Amino acid sequence: MKTEKLIAVVRKIAEKIESEKDFLTELDNVIGDGDHGINLARGFGEVEKKLDALADKEPAEVLKSVGMTLVSTVGGASGPLYGTGFMKMGMALKGKEEIRTADFLEAFQAAIEGIQMRGKSTKGEKTMLDAMIPAKEAIEKAWKEDADAIAAFAAGIAAAKEGVEFTKTIAATKGRASYLGDRSIGHQDPGATSFTMMLEIVGDEV
Ligand code: ADP
Ligand code: MG
Repeated sequence: MKTEKLIAVVRKIAEKIESEKDFLTELDNVIGDGDHGINLARGFGEVEKKLDALADKEPAEVLKSVGMTLVSTVGGASGPLYGTGFMKMGMALKGKEEIRTADFLEAFQAAIEGIQMRGKSTKGEKTMLDAMIPAKEAIEKAWKEDADAIAAFAAGIAAAKEGVEFTKTIAATKGRASYLGDRSIGHQDPGATSFTMMLEIVGDEV
């Protein structure tokens, strides 16, 4: 994936987040403060405005811009966390003209580590990481097995969806939902859900 396609993917993510804004906000209403969709839609709206100016930059610059814009325009936990993730991807891809599957996996790992560090969080705490970590592992495993990017992303998306289902079964120990304790059980995590939507868009474009 080169810059032109990456920009198209980011645009599609922004459209998806905008169209799912109410759904994501509704999920956050149940276990948080009901702003996840609003937060992300605002951030990606700002991201979109900057994309045209990035057309002749390398992919890393696009990702860095997405990350910095999310950090600076999204209120709530998810802005700094997603922002860190995109910025870390950019750093990992620096100097590359094209993002290949192996590069993506390296960048994805860097994003996960950045989010874990910033959020002081790990798998099993009912956050976006419960979709991200299994997705990354599934893409890596499938890619190692038969180097078919389409199949690998399909496996990753399936794992992310399972991760979202898993978040329904556990209590939150990070983020606002943790204030609910066991009352958060039975509800899916908004951040794991929004991440899965983003990965589905990427999967469509591989
Ligand atoms: P806020 O919780 O500040 O209102 P959002 O509603 O935009 O922010 O985002 C909530 C989502 O952020 C949660 O569903 C969860 O996936 C994610 N999240 C919150 N805290 C953390 C954390 N420490 N580590 C990873 N993800 C987190
Ligand atoms: Mg919220």
